[in-house]
Amino acid sequence: MAITYNMLEVQVDLKRIVDNYRFMRSRAARLMPVIKADAYGHGLLPVAKALAAAGADAFCVGSVGEAVTLRRERKPDSGCRVVSLLGPMDREDYAEAVSHEVTLLVGRHEQLELLQVAASSAGRMAPVALKFDTGMSRLGFSEADVPRLIQTLTTSPNLRLELVTSHLATADEDSGVDYVLAQAERFRAITAKLSAAGLRFQANLANSAGILAYPELHFDLQRPGIALYGSNPFLGTNHEELGRPLKQAMSVTTRILDVHDLPRGGTISYGRTYTAPRDMRVAIMAAGYADGYSRGLSNKGQVCLKGSRAPILGRVCMQLTAVDITGREDVHPGDTVHLLGGSGRGYISVEELAGWWGTISYESFCILGLNRRVYFGGD
Ligand SMILES: *Cc1c(COP(=O)(O)O)cnc(C)c1O
Repeated sequence: MAITYNMLEVQVDLKRIVDNYRFMRSRAARLMPVIKADAYGHGLLPVAKALAAAGADAFCVGSVGEAVTLRRERKPDSGCRVVSLLGPMDREDYAEAVSHEVTLLVGRHEQLELLQVAASSAGRMAPVALKFDTGMSRLGFSEADVPRLIQTLTTSPNLRLELVTSHLATADEDSGVDYVLAQAERFRAITAKLSAAGLRFQANLANSAGILAYPELHFDLQRPGIALYGSNPFLGTNHEELGRPLKQAMSVTTRILDVHDLPRGGTISYGRTYTAPRDMRVAIMAAGYADGYSRGLSNKGQVCLKGSRAPILGRVCMQLTAVDITGREDVHPGDTVHLLGGSGRGYISVEELAGWWGTISYESFCILGLNRRVYFGGD
């Protein structure tokens, strides 16, 4: 899946991820770090290892396959819980989850029935997380399903209810407060009914933004994702201060291949979308949309070269992009250039990159994180 044929290098600072984890834990004590999608592009196993060393004892991943990969490193006897947020799809997923003690999020009755069958034929107990749809309208049971769930759970000898989960749609938005509170109200009603039936479980609702902005919605466990990687979910909102201590863990570099003049009136790259208004100098770097460096950055994005900014000129190509270095004598073929991160005034935050790109920090991390990664700050 990873892109390995190119010059991009993703640097992941594990110490920053641990610092972000500690900061989040200072706000809410019982975290299940979300490391789905290869830890938002930062690398499932290195991130899990660093967080486990810092005290994390439960992780949320995406697919059952990802959960099994993590289980090879963190065996059930380590006391570590592994939750698959996507839950089971194919029949093999049930058997795999049962044998590796993966806690499956389930949102359909049929899934519970298949899990009971798989656990019973393996002669084991299967940990279960019930997912409720309280307002995302994606996956999950509704409050109306509760009576049948109680019936199933109290009569399925191989199912062990562990978690009751739902997900907030608007916790990072100023205008989302009413919707968050409405979701929380539905969630409370559901958990109250399950408790009243004698079921025991740990309720969890809050993502990063929910943890920071809604301390009253922490329930038993919390699920931080983006904050661990150092993006402030509240940038540009009234709550911006809440995420200020977070530190970006990912940087991305590539190399300058060539440097040359672009005379006044000259155009650059496909479609001639940029015309030099004066005599200019350009650097051509080894990065393009094949590396996940989006063509949407054409004539919009910037890079950090030796501590200062260089704007993209013309279209981003498959593996090449031109940047403006007019008036600079300090740029040469072979130099390193930052697409994300960097130094000095030119430092590029993931939110700024995502803004040029027309997306959010989450997507920028996930896509750039597909490139070759190196780690530092670990032990
Ligand atoms: C991705 C995800 C999270 C983490 O959300 P962030 O906004 O990154 O903190 C939490 N819960 C569920 C179910 C998720 O899918």
